[in-house]
Amino acid sequence: MDERLVSGESIYEDVDFEYSLRPQTLRQYIGQEKVKHNLEIFIEAAKLREETLDHVLLYGPPGLGKTTLAAIIANEMGVNLRTTSGPAIERAGDLAAVLTALQPGDVLFIDEIHRLPRSVEEVLYPAMEDFCLDIVIGKGPTAKSVRLDLPPFTLVGATTRAGALSSPLRDRFGVLARLEYYGTDQLSDIVTRTAEVFAIEIDRNAAVEIAKRARGTPRIANRLLRRVRDFAQVRGNGTITIDITRTALELLQVDRLGLDHIDHKLMLGIIEKFRGGPVGLETVAATIGEEAHTIEDVYEPYLLQIGFLQRTPRGRIATPLAYQHFGIEVPQ
Ligand code: ADP
Repeated sequence: MDERLVSGESIYEDVDFEYSLRPQTLRQYIGQEKVKHNLEIFIEAAKLREETLDHVLLYGPPGLGKTTLAAIIANEMGVNLRTTSGPAIERAGDLAAVLTALQPGDVLFIDEIHRLPRSVEEVLYPAMEDFCLDIVIGKGPTAKSVRLDLPPFTLVGATTRAGALSSPLRDRFGVLARLEYYGTDQLSDIVTRTAEVFAIEIDRNAAVEIAKRARGTPRIANRLLRRVRDFAQVRGNGTITIDITRTALELLQVDRLGLDHIDHKLMLGIIEKFRGGPVGLETVAATIGEEAHTIEDVYEPYLLQIGFLQRTPRGRIATPLAYQHFGIEVPQ
């Protein structure tokens, strides 16, 4: 499921490619103007006061640039970046080891922070608030609590599900930044920049075409560019033209709006089998043979975002926009 060409989640082939691509400064980071503007001011102020930057929580769908932004924050502050993730920290001791290894001022990036176990979260609270660790030594009646000072640091947390974060944890972040889906202009700038980095020749209208099909997500835009480049090299003379782009994406089954066969199956299921709905999630799941929670968390968000689908108390409804896209007449 995660191997979908149009999924915002990172897949194996993205890793090396993205590594050489990450913008290093806020100026190179395209779009997200509001977030960038706020961060610029907070970073500048922290530097003037010679303090660490307040803890930052970045949230939004996968592939929009949270990890990239964490690295940029460290770079702009002129400090080291330490990276870990919620699932990687299983016990309080794991977190203590990470925290005590920090240098003063460092940025600690915790990806998927909503997946930290509760017992670990509790160690994080005093660390975030007072830069200290409370360690219990011994057991039973003779147990003693010892306070350990930590170097001041900035925690940058990233999550795709801000709602899944406990409120005591969320309240300890001074800066909350929500990343939005990118517009076509910004995505085509990102595609053009990626092409420059890898010395790929691409026509402007081809970059725009890729951007339109990238579901508002830089990671998907870069992935589509990589696939289209293969076609251009094998079928053309290496330059990515609009014709090659359209042919390649058609063969890869990514349509004009970036929908793939799974989106088609879901939307056409609702349109053809349930006259457009309303139809309950469980029924849709059984009809198309997918898990209900996968439909809800992975397939639906983009369809909701582009207004093809509505979630109502009575079930899912396909909108007239969706009918139009598939060239099907809306039933009376
Ligand atoms: P997330 O952590 O939100 O899943 P990443 O930070 O890993 O997303 O971004 C995925 C890729 O998309 C990065 O390697 C980067 O090349 C590209 N990217 C993301 N945001 C931007 C941006 N604003 N400008 C340029 N490239 C970006």
